[in-house]
Amino acid sequence: MSAQTHTADSVLSIDDTLAKFDPVMGLEVHVELNTNTKMFCGCATEFGADPNTQVCPICLGLPGALPVVNAMGVESAIRIGLALNCEIASWCRFARKNYFYPDMPKNFQTSQYDEPIAFEGYLDVDLDDGTTYRVEIERAHMEEDTGKSLHVGGSTGRIQGADYSLVDYNRAGIPLIEIVTKPLTGAGERAPEIARAYVSVLRDLLKALGVSDVRMEQGSMRCDANVSLRPKAGDGATSAEQLAVPLGTRTETKNVNSLRSVERAVRYEMTRHAAVLDAGGSITQETRHWHEDTGVTTAGRPKSDADDYRYFPEPDLVPAAPDAAWVEELRATLPEPPAERRKRLQADWGYSDLEMRDVINAGAIEAIEETIAAGASASAARKWWGGEIARRANKADVAITEMGVTPADIAELDGLVRDGRLNDAMARQVMEGVLNGEGSPTAVADARGLELVQDDGALEAAVDKVIAANTDMADKVRGGKVQAAGALIGQVMKEMKGQADAAKARELILARLLPS
Ligand code: ADP
Ligand code: MG
Ligand code: ZN
Repeated sequence: MSAQTHTADSVLSIDDTLAKFDPVMGLEVHVELNTNTKMFCGCATEFGADPNTQVCPICLGLPGALPVVNAMGVESAIRIGLALNCEIASWCRFARKNYFYPDMPKNFQTSQYDEPIAFEGYLDVDLDDGTTYRVEIERAHMEEDTGKSLHVGGSTGRIQGADYSLVDYNRAGIPLIEIVTKPLTGAGERAPEIARAYVSVLRDLLKALGVSDVRMEQGSMRCDANVSLRPKAGDGATSAEQLAVPLGTRTETKNVNSLRSVERAVRYEMTRHAAVLDAGGSITQETRHWHEDTGVTTAGRPKSDADDYRYFPEPDLVPAAPDAAWVEELRATLPEPPAERRKRLQADWGYSDLEMRDVINAGAIEAIEETIAAGASASAARKWWGGEIARRANKADVAITEMGVTPADIAELDGLVRDGRLNDAMARQVMEGVLNGEGSPTAVADARGLELVQDDGALEAAVDKVIAANTDMADKVRGGKVQAAGALIGQVMKEMKGQADAAKARELILARLLPS
């Protein structure tokens, strides 16, 4: 993509931006539901099928075809709304949003306008600094996806310079939920982090609800980031005074498709707006394209609030009128909210805040949960998933679950340590073997001949030998310098070629030198 050249826009530093301006954001997230069939017809929704194999007269918009609402789509929309603490409409209609685009065969998108299924909610987002920011949700509404255009022959994949274009309507009519926040104020310097954290928490929530694959890289979850700046109310202004300053003109950066990009795109737009405003210019209300490689946005199309989509209620569909009892039934199916779940797990596992944050950042929550369920201790599960495996997965840029080690493997390895067959150093060697694909922990330990010497006689002999050969150090321990025992333990381990239990060696040394 973006082989297109563009003159770089000037930007202000983030510090200068924040010194002079107050950022306001609005986030629009589109999520594709994982229903088996489309929103208004019975066509399949499977990803990756041959072009135009999952289409019918309804989703192709052929004259006379009549749509029917997918009940599962409505159910998912209501569950999403409830999970976002929204009110659920007792009666709402679909609306036609009219515009022309080749990948939209009916020349209108079936959407919702002033009667969304869910409205007035919020989602609390925990931030790294320990604060919580409440994201106010304006609405969540049902709509359908468009088809996909493929521009062939040009160098950029864009329509400019292409020889011809192809359209695949498999995606046309796939159910979408659009979740729109209110303008988010009071974020200040935390704005880019809040944008990322919100999308991340929302993704976890939708995953826990089981309503979508939420794969940002495959486009089943997409974020449009609206950003504007307003002048600072002045030194010493109260937050109420700042909130009273009118909102600035926004830009809408479209289809940002990773968490990291959401954060970067918001920060970039803040600094770009700041440079324009600081130079006395004004912001054009428009869409922007985000360029992952260069980390900048470029202008899309101008977009005014008065864009006339000639919305009107869809006459071919009955309104959605979920009765209160059904809504309550659905409320009872909601999963534990991800943030609360994390707090509960942290308490259960006894992790510190810092340890928990590392585990979350490593994407290791589920793996640790399964590992503990398989019999490992919470500390061993964290040590392996949050340590060596996370380090390697990060380096290889893959998920920790794709490293070839299973929760059962970790539990087995922890069992070998707890049974006294392996010490920590040996366990690390075994893990190395498991990561190299040499087999299960027991198989690796067997193949590599890793096993602590269980013969206490051999260990005692080694202890006696080391004490006799290191009289200086032994005397220090006798004199009360217990730390000096460390060096003796090291010697014993060497004597035993690493095959000894260090804790046991320590016990024996202290028993010899400090008889009670
Ligand atoms: P559109 O049709 O332009 O997509 P939406 O209502 O769907 O309009 O979404 C607009 C988004 O922009 C909402 O999240 C809204 O809160 C946000 N927004 C509105 N005004 C501003 C502003 N001045 N600065 C930042 N965000 C804004
Ligand atoms: Mg919108
Ligand atoms: Zn169809």
